[in-house]
Amino acid sequence: MHPFTYTKANTATEAIEAVAAGGPGTRYLAGGTTLYDLMKLNVETPTHVVDVTGLSGMREINTSGDRELVFGALARMSDVARDPKIVSDYPLLSESLWRAASEQLRNMATVGGNLLQRTRCAYFRFGEPFACNKRNPGSGCAAQEGIDRGHAVLGGSTSCIAVYPSDWAIALVAFDAEVDVVGSKGQRTIPLNNLHREPGTTPHIETVLEPDELITRIRVPVTPLGWASTYLKIRDRESYAFALASAAVGLEMDGDTVRDARIAIGGLATRPWRTREAEQSLIGQRLTPETARKAGDLALKGAKAGHMNGFRIELGARTVAEALMIAKQRGLAR
Ligand SMILES: Cc1cc2nc3c(=O)[nH]c(=O)nc-3n(C[C@H](O)[C@H](O)[C@H](O)COP(=O)(O)OP(=O)(O)OC[C@H]3O[C@@H](n4cnc5c(N)ncnc54)[C@H](O)[C@@H]3O)c2cc1C
Repeated sequence: MHPFTYTKANTATEAIEAVAAGGPGTRYLAGGTTLYDLMKLNVETPTHVVDVTGLSGMREINTSGDRELVFGALARMSDVARDPKIVSDYPLLSESLWRAASEQLRNMATVGGNLLQRTRCAYFRFGEPFACNKRNPGSGCAAQEGIDRGHAVLGGSTSCIAVYPSDWAIALVAFDAEVDVVGSKGQRTIPLNNLHREPGTTPHIETVLEPDELITRIRVPVTPLGWASTYLKIRDRESYAFALASAAVGLEMDGDTVRDARIAIGGLATRPWRTREAEQSLIGQRLTPETARKAGDLALKGAKAGHMNGFRIELGARTVAEALMIAKQRGLAR
């Protein structure tokens, strides 16, 4: 047990000041389902924990606006997943949440904390004696020569091939979401697509956030691509498992022809992976199993297989293709 101190903040300003006072080993605490888990494994050893669950105004779920959907960072995964407007008009967003974790976890976990959950790479989570540049910079990457069945085929480097695990972030990146953050230097908005970094030579630096920056809310532009959308998640068992491959897809159709498309993939890359070339390949085309499969292949373009994970390149392409056909059917059924 590593001793740590604890503060419960009442305002964002108090929380930010508590991080400054606590120094570099300080962490925000929301639902705790990632942070406490990693503290029990001694992977995260914060010296100070700043509980933000008492902050007011950060649990809002507003899906009635004409321009955007707004989710406070402390809104619970389960509450967002069952919001009636999200269920009916944005099934992609709802499915990405209820296909994640378990009901107990979703009742505890927040949509802000979800974006900052850390990789499930076993070499990262199970500590010494495994080398891990993310956990212990400069120590190496045991996954490169190890059991890499679940590791990334896109966005990896010689320093790290750990998969980015959030399902919700994949859905959000497909729909051009942004996060509002506040820190000691003020407020700013970050497109979700820019929040997470590829590992490069510094896999321990996972996002563009400053250590004291607090995510306050997530905003998703209102889009006609919501209706014909889906989050298809392929995993080793039917529920309570992370993705082997997933696809977040939204379509705007004119009969059989694609007017607009959004595609992002999960479970396969080191960060949320938007696939614009695949999207472009569909625009103005009839959506058939063949054009869907071509988009799937483009989504996986550049994928690099390790020793055991090559099958997930084919699986990823098929997942995208199948998700496109599901989304098309949903559009036709409206
Ligand atoms: C057994 C298990 C299975 C799971 N399966 C899945 C799955 O299939 N798919 C999936 O997507 N997820 C899955 N998860 C992960 C789960 O969704 C996350 O643990 C959860 O969403 C994190 O939210 P939290 O509020 O509990 O975050 P916390 O644990 O409180 O925080 C997580 C991190 O974010 C930081 N943080 C939290 N809130 C903020 C904020 N507002 N601003 C800045 N920093 C913040 C914390 O400092 C910490 O570093 C699983 C988790 C477990 C334990």
